[in-house]
Amino acid sequence: MSGTWTIDEPVFRAATARAYEGLFTLGSGYLHVRGSLEEHLADAPQNVEYTRLPANVTSERFPETKAKWGTYVPGVFGPHPLLNAEMINLPWFLGLAPIVDGERLDVEKCKIDSYRRELRLNGATLARRLRWRTKSGASVTVEFERFISAARPHICVQRMKLTSDRAVELRIEAGIDADVRTNGYDHFRRVMLKRVGASGIGCLLRTDGEDAVEMLTRVGAPGCDWKYEETPRSATLVADVKLVGNQESVVEKRTAVTTSRDLVVRSALEWLRQVEGLSYEQLQAEHAEVWRERWQSCDVVVEGDAGAQRALRASLYHVLRAHVPSDDRVAIDGKGYAGEAYWGRYFWDTEMFLLPFYLYTDPPRARTLADFRVNTLDGARKNAERYGYSGARYAWESDANGNECCPNRQYADREVHVTADVVYGLAHYARGAGDEDYLRARAAQVVAETARYWIQRLDQRAGEDHPSLLGVMGPDEYTPICDNNACTNRLVKFALQLAAEIGDVAGASAGECQAFARAAVGLPIPRHEDGVLVWQCEEFDALAEPRFDEFWRDRSRTFGEQVSQERLYRSKCLKQADVLMLMMLFPHEFSDAEVRRAWDYYEPLTTHDSSLSPGVHAIVACRLGLMNQAWRFWNMAAGIDLDAERGGAAEGIHISNAAGLWQIAVFGFAGMKTALQSDLLTFDPRLPSQWSRLAFPVAWKGAHVSVEITREQLSVANRGEVPLRVRARDETRALDVGQTEIWTLPSPSQ
Ligand code: BGC
Repeated sequence: MSGTWTIDEPVFRAATARAYEGLFTLGSGYLHVRGSLEEHLADAPQNVEYTRLPANVTSERFPETKAKWGTYVPGVFGPHPLLNAEMINLPWFLGLAPIVDGERLDVEKCKIDSYRRELRLNGATLARRLRWRTKSGASVTVEFERFISAARPHICVQRMKLTSDRAVELRIEAGIDADVRTNGYDHFRRVMLKRVGASGIGCLLRTDGEDAVEMLTRVGAPGCDWKYEETPRSATLVADVKLVGNQESVVEKRTAVTTSRDLVVRSALEWLRQVEGLSYEQLQAEHAEVWRERWQSCDVVVEGDAGAQRALRASLYHVLRAHVPSDDRVAIDGKGYAGEAYWGRYFWDTEMFLLPFYLYTDPPRARTLADFRVNTLDGARKNAERYGYSGARYAWESDANGNECCPNRQYADREVHVTADVVYGLAHYARGAGDEDYLRARAAQVVAETARYWIQRLDQRAGEDHPSLLGVMGPDEYTPICDNNACTNRLVKFALQLAAEIGDVAGASAGECQAFARAAVGLPIPRHEDGVLVWQCEEFDALAEPRFDEFWRDRSRTFGEQVSQERLYRSKCLKQADVLMLMMLFPHEFSDAEVRRAWDYYEPLTTHDSSLSPGVHAIVACRLGLMNQAWRFWNMAAGIDLDAERGGAAEGIHISNAAGLWQIAVFGFAGMKTALQSDLLTFDPRLPSQWSRLAFPVAWKGAHVSVEITREQLSVANRGEVPLRVRARDETRALDVGQTEIWTLPSPSQ
């Protein structure tokens, strides 16, 4: 690895190819493509059909293929016979292969003298350079580069440069391959391929979700006479060139993708025509300029630790890539549009893990995520109706229409906290962006209708004078059915309280608002009789001991993979933070002693089988001053996608963890409180001993500041256009426009 703005694949190995494909996913928000090799690999068919069954994805085994293509346009879903709506993997348009003296480049089978592939994070460009010793004895240098234009999100631009040390016969193949499946299933109803002019290929298809998708590819290479070849699902342009020794041959491939869902209606041909007069360099420059602005709004600088810096930037790159600017009809799926393991669906991850990053760096982006939930209220209404309730109940796994798609009843029926998480997210957006009217205007209906659902969903048990939320699954998915889950209840209390305050705007009667308020007060947070330990749920103490020593022998794999679901479900093992999640979200409601007690009790029981777990633990550890633990969890989180040897991003980016890395740096090490936790922008920094400086920008209720933390001091500069007040070390200071304030920090031993 070199520099902190690149992540690289220093050598090609088939065993890690899929992990790099996921890690090197490029995307413009509108269009995403996994980092597959342009020339592909032999024996890695992409049309294998298999039946993926409803399962616990965390411990699911995926087909062992060397490569997994993935081309995704958010919102393009199709029905699956067993798994409900899933995002469709579209045709693969990256294909660009050199064949030298009859030998096809294959980095696994050919003699490769040197190889290096790198994702340039600042300019969102994937580059590869290799030296290939052909069977005919030539030494051929091949350089590939590609990017999906952030300036023109429908367009992918590729370039291949080839130089041989002696004269060779070069054949170039460039194509579109529609013989692909999504999770082993064929979603294409009709595929039409055609030649377009002398150097173009078109692919038109209709999906079983009734979307029309068009791809148009143009190849440019001086002196090439392209022949056209077609199979029922693929189209290829082929050209033969005599390559003179030491002379560079350059091939460019530009592809435009459109769908019937597009907000800007323009054909693929029109998109390509617009760039006809522009060179590769010009296209790359305008693309890089958009990324430069993006990085300016959010880059987190870490000094003293290049590995941490690189991991943070790799994560931010994906979080920036996966968001679809100004399209509020979609959110960000569980794998960040870098794989289809989570079917392209939207989880509570959106509100709890992703939204904060956008909210405190580029609030209009957070707004689209909030609006997505408002837009899908109808789906939530239908979902409530299906369960026999009025009001609105959000889907555990939502498609772009808000429909419940989760085929596993234990999650779909019980992981109801998502409905409260949605309201928490809406309130968070409104408060953090300083857009307080949002709740009363745009979001009020969601707040009122979800509260109506809660009122019906609550039960009052015989002999009790308070309501209870029974038969739920909290964030910890290894306790499948429980009563009064503390984290869920607290979030529901939050949602009901808000509905009591603003429900009238959305037509809730005074009587209803009173009922919301009563339920909000009455819902219990279960506690141990010592009054300090918060129980995850009422029955937690009665569960069996997890017996990790006996059953979790191989700690490099998840616990969930090594024991049956039945054992998971009757044991005191946690998949992920639950009570600690509650304490991270509502830190001011729990004393240090209560948080410490919860840490000591639950952390040893937690498997962290979910990638959503380490980040929460790191943040809570910072609050408790457990810096060794915070460091341990930071490293766990930082390695999840980067560790190709252990599978990393093979099935897609763990996008919540990626945004969670930002949360660890900002909410954990810098100790920033969210707008739902504090009215004032507040910091309580605790740098890991490995870091000498941490700096980042923050957008806060319309203000913009830059924050810099060293061992000695915290400095906050007002870079925006409004004055604000900032709190740190129990001291609140006013910052005029342009003003910088410095707080001296105690030395770590103090
Ligand atoms: C976690 C959920 C999460 C989902 C998608 C699961 O493994 O347990 O909390 O929402 O993955 O990221």
